[in-house]
Amino acid sequence: MNGSLQILFNTLMMRHFSTRTRIFLALSLLLAVSDALFVLINYRAEQARFHTHIEQRAENLRNLFAMEVANTSLRMQQIATFIAAMPEVQQAFSLGRQTVEAEGGGLGGEKSRQARAHLLALVNDPWQKMRQLYDTRQLHFQIGEQATSFLRVHATEKFGDSLDDVRHTIMDAIREQKHTGGFECGRIICGIRGVSPVNNLPDTAANPSFIGVLEAGTSFHNTLDLIEKSGGASIAVLLAKSHLEETYFPDRLAMIPPDDFLSDGHFIEATLHPEIRSYLADERIAQLVRDKKSDWFQMNGKALAFTAFELRDYLGLIQAERPAVGTVVAWLPVDAEVSDLYHDLKVNIGYAIIAYLLIEGLLFLALQKAVEGLEGVIARQTRSLKDLAAHDALTGLYNRHYLDEFVARVYASSDRQRAPCSLAIMDIDYFKQVNDTYGHLRGDQVLQACAALVKARLRASDIAFRYGGEEFLLVFPATEIDKAQQICETLRTQLIGKSLGGLVIGKLTASFGVACRSATNETLERTLARADRALYEAKRLGRNRVEITMDNCAEAASDT
Ligand code: GH3
Ligand code: MG
Ligand code: MG
Repeated sequence: MNGSLQILFNTLMMRHFSTRTRIFLALSLLLAVSDALFVLINYRAEQARFHTHIEQRAENLRNLFAMEVANTSLRMQQIATFIAAMPEVQQAFSLGRQTVEAEGGGLGGEKSRQARAHLLALVNDPWQKMRQLYDTRQLHFQIGEQATSFLRVHATEKFGDSLDDVRHTIMDAIREQKHTGGFECGRIICGIRGVSPVNNLPDTAANPSFIGVLEAGTSFHNTLDLIEKSGGASIAVLLAKSHLEETYFPDRLAMIPPDDFLSDGHFIEATLHPEIRSYLADERIAQLVRDKKSDWFQMNGKALAFTAFELRDYLGLIQAERPAVGTVVAWLPVDAEVSDLYHDLKVNIGYAIIAYLLIEGLLFLALQKAVEGLEGVIARQTRSLKDLAAHDALTGLYNRHYLDEFVARVYASSDRQRAPCSLAIMDIDYFKQVNDTYGHLRGDQVLQACAALVKARLRASDIAFRYGGEEFLLVFPATEIDKAQQICETLRTQLIGKSLGGLVIGKLTASFGVACRSATNETLERTLARADRALYEAKRLGRNRVEITMDNCAEAASDT
C-alpha cells in the first residue's frame, strides 16, 4: 500500500518523467484547466441568459395576470351597473331598504323578507344568464352607508350582516359614489369583484338618491383560463390562511378541510392544474414560492420554469405597505430551451476538445522542435568545445589530448589492413636562442609560421600535433618509414629556405626523428620512444637533419 502510494505521489510530482515530459504535462494540464474554465464560463453565461429569458417571461406573466384581473373586475362592474340601472330593481331595492330600516335594521322583519323575495324574483333571470355567460358567482345587494347585506342572490339564506370592516371595494364605492373593482375576499367567498352604487331615479328630496350598492363577483376560473391561453403558462392562486381568518365567517372557514391547506399555510384558491400540489411539495419550489423568485427545474423528466409573485387584493394595490394576501404561482414547459442549452453546452465541449487536441498537437510539435533545436545547439556547442579542447591555441594544430584518440583510430585501421604507420618528432633547433634574441612574442610568431608550413606541406591523410613547446609530432598513416623520411626531408629543406616569423632565411632549422610502428601490437609510447631516440641522434649529429630508427618498418610488418 505504502509502495503504491509512493508511486502515485511520485507520479503526481512527475518524478518519473523527463524535463521535457514534465513541461509538456504541466502545459497540457494548464491548457485543460483553461479549456474547462472556458466551457464553464460559457455555460454559466448561457445559463444566465436563459435565466434572464425566464425572468422576462415571468414579468410578462405578472403583467398579463394583473391585466386580466382588471379586465374581469371591469366585466363584473359592467354586470353590476347593468342590473343597478334597471328601474324595477331600483324600486324593489329601495323598498327593501325602507322596510329593513322600518323594522330596526340588520336582519329586518317579515316585510323585509317579502321585499327581499321580490327583489330576488326580479333579478333571478338575469342572474342565471350571467352565471352561464360570465361565470358570475356572486350578486350582492347591500343597504346604505354601513353596507348591511340585504340580499345575496348566490346565498339567499345569509343576510343582515354588515360588511364595512372587510369589504373595501364596497366601502369605497359607497364613500366616493363610484364604481370600484378588484380581487377581494369577503365573508363567504374570495373573488374578483365589481361594485356599482344603486341610486333611485329620479333623485328627489322625498326619495333620496342613494340606496346602497350592488356587487357582482366571479372566481379566478375564467381569468386563469384566459391567461393560460394567451400566456402559455399554468397558474395557481394561493391564499394566505391568515388572510382568510381575517375575512371569512368562522363557520365558512371551518368548512375548508384542514388538508386543503398547504404546509406553509396557503390555500389553493384557484388553479386548472391540480398537479401543483405535488410541485409545491417539492422543497425547491416551496422555497421559490417563499422567495417570490423565478427559476427552472426538472420535474418528472420535464423541464418547467416556475415563477411566484405576490397576490395583492383591492386594498393592497392602493396601499403598498399592506401585506400581500397570497401568492400567484405560474409555470410553463421549457424543454425546448433547456435542450438548446444542453445542445450549446455539448457543442462548446466539442469545440473545446477539438481546440485542446489541436493545441496539444501543436504544443507537442513545438516542444519537439524546440528540444531538437536545443539538442542541435548543444551538439554543435559540444563539438566546437571538443574541437577547441583538441586544438592548440597558439598554432591551431591538434594538441596532445587528441593524440591518443587519433592514433588509436589510425593504429586500428593499420592493424586491420596490415599496413605500416610512421611517426616523426620534429624539434626546432636552438629555439631558446630565438626567444632570447627576439623575445618570446617573436618566438610565438615563429612557432605559428612553422606550424602553418608543416600543415600546408603534409598530405591530406597525414596529421600534425603540437607535441611540446617547440616540438611537433607528425603522424603518417599507411606510410612506410622511407616515405615518411622523405616528407620530413622536404619539410626540413623548406624550413631553411623560408623566412619564418621574420627571421633571416636559413636561420631556422629543425631536427627530425622518424620511426615506424614495427609490430601490430606496438603501443604509441614505444613507437614514440624510438622516434625520440632518432631525434636525439639527429641532435647529436649536429641538428638540421632527419634520422630514422634502425628498426625497419617493412621488416617488422613481415615479422608478424
Ligand atoms: P635544441 O636544439 O637542443 O632543441 O635547443 P633548444 O633551445 O631548442 O631547446 P631547449 O629545450 O633548451 O629550449 C626550448 C625553448 O623553447 C625553451 C622555451 O622557452 C621555448 N618555448 C617552449 N614553448 C614556447 C612557446 O610556446 N613560445 C615561445 N616563444 N617559446 C617557447
Ligand atoms: Mg625541444
Ligand atoms: Mg629545440
